[in-house]
Amino acid sequence: MSAEPGRRPAADHPFDLSGSVALVTGGNAGIGFAAAEALAGAGAGVAVWGRRSDRNQAAAEALGRFGGPVLADTVDVADSDAVEVGFDRVVAGLGRVDCVFVNAGISRHASSFLEITPESRDEVLGTNLLGSWATLAAAVSHMVVRAEAGDPGGSIIVNGSLTVIGGVPGAEHYGVAKAGLVSVVKGIAVEYGRIGVRANVICPGFIEKEGRPGPRIDEVEKRGPIPRYGRPDEIAGIVVYLASAAATYHTGDVITIDGGWTAGVL
Ligand code: NDP
Repeated sequence: MSAEPGRRPAADHPFDLSGSVALVTGGNAGIGFAAAEALAGAGAGVAVWGRRSDRNQAAAEALGRFGGPVLADTVDVADSDAVEVGFDRVVAGLGRVDCVFVNAGISRHASSFLEITPESRDEVLGTNLLGSWATLAAAVSHMVVRAEAGDPGGSIIVNGSLTVIGGVPGAEHYGVAKAGLVSVVKGIAVEYGRIGVRANVICPGFIEKEGRPGPRIDEVEKRGPIPRYGRPDEIAGIVVYLASAAATYHTGDVITIDGGWTAGVL
């Protein structure tokens, strides 16, 4: 019987990622690092990318304690050539890539739409949209080659944002990048589902950075059904799930994890 595309060999537990390899862009801090830890904890070999080599090194040391293979590399996703070379280094170093968490991103806020400078717009689009695009292209390309060699499957997870649902004044550049990625991910899901490649977007709500809530904490405490910022580790579980055999029928989705924030719009 031939293997069903995207189906891994039976594991003891549906979230067991033993033998698989995940790449996390922006994996040296925040949500990316929490996801990398959770993926490594579930048994995956993990590669992390970031621009700061000291943070990459610290992440690699922390991830190494899970006992699986780890690779940390200095890659700026805004540089599409660096992404291609970096992706090849992951495949060469860890043998394959089964899951890519396209997470690297920057956030910039101006006081209004009209105050967003062309430089800021281009910086945000260059990293969040084009950098993610380059990563997605490398990931899909690898997964297609593998499928053609008789080894189909793969899970692509993009870190979106609530700005794909609602507008944030002064963050329209950030929002257009994240909303654009939803369209790209849905296209990939439709185009490559038959070779077992799944693609989904997760949309975290307000998440702490370096252990601290951000500027809208008063509003979140007043109006949030769960009245606090989320922690990065509260986003990590969905990444493990989407990477795992538990999610082999789950594709083309946009999943919100926001402590109920968007449920309260009425
Ligand atoms: P952090 O600032 O804590 O982490 C950002 C990560 O991305 C770092 O590892 C950073 O490493 C890396 N990074 C940034 N730019 C680049 C680049 N050009 N190339 C490679 N790596 C890069 O942010 P968060 O964890 O908060 O955010 C991660 C993702 O989650 C982003 O895409 C963000 O938009 C999204 N998000 C965050 C929310 C929040 O409330 N925090 C809510 C919704 C979505 P280095 O500096 O070494 O490059």
